[in-house]
Amino acid sequence: MINKIAKVIVLGCGTSTGVPAIGCDDPVCLSDNPRNKRLRPSIVIQTDVSTLLVDTSPDLRQQALEHNLKKIDAVIYTHFHADHTFGIDDLRVFNMIMKKTIPCYAYDNTLKVLRQNFEYIFGENNQHKGFKPRLTLNQINDELFEAANFSIIPIELDHAGTKVMGIRIGDFVYATDCSSIPQSSLEKMKGVKTLIIDALRHRPHPSHLTVDQAVEISEFLSPEKTYFTHTNYELEYEETNRNLPNNIKMAYDGLCFEINL
Ligand SMILES: [Zn+2]
Ligand SMILES: [Zn+2]
Repeated sequence: MINKIAKVIVLGCGTSTGVPAIGCDDPVCLSDNPRNKRLRPSIVIQTDVSTLLVDTSPDLRQQALEHNLKKIDAVIYTHFHADHTFGIDDLRVFNMIMKKTIPCYAYDNTLKVLRQNFEYIFGENNQHKGFKPRLTLNQINDELFEAANFSIIPIELDHAGTKVMGIRIGDFVYATDCSSIPQSSLEKMKGVKTLIIDALRHRPHPSHLTVDQAVEISEFLSPEKTYFTHTNYELEYEETNRNLPNNIKMAYDGLCFEINL
């Protein structure tokens, strides 16, 4: 590894609808506080030489413009849901700028749905001759893998029966979209210094952790800092933070921090 430190930028930390949600009159959706405005979930991890994108949210164009992203060396797909994949077409511009194909990495279940949903990109016999993304799909199993010069430990998460890839890079773990975390995966997360974890809302939900469940996992792992992601319109930024333990905070769009590789 050439670089010892990388930068993580939270491009979006909202749930699948984004915050504000369309047509929503709840106070958080009407709030003027920029920390209550959340695009769909995605992060980018950067060094001087490499840029790794995690998920292509439907807001990728806006996120890339906001953060002046000019290159993406690889993409990891955590899973196949629309809020994590439907910005895939915006990868075209990075192909164009960089003049190269972008490798994408995911579990088998995710690759299968990507091939189905985006037949115009991945179909072997498709007739689409237009301007489409140039991507390769690479299957990840349990083992450590390399992408964009990063060494990545895949961490299997359970999202109401859907297998989701959490990732560990150095002392950082990103665990979006999960309703539970298997014990073997918690073992892989031990020693984490900065954790980003799903915490949709206070009320129980079949496919996402609640705030209390995420706090419990954070307390078990005891990282220096935990940030909540995939949060919905019921979690007001300031009020939620006031009631969390000192080392836990809501993430916000644009949050940026360093990690040790
Ligand atoms: Zn999601
Ligand atoms: Zn999901």
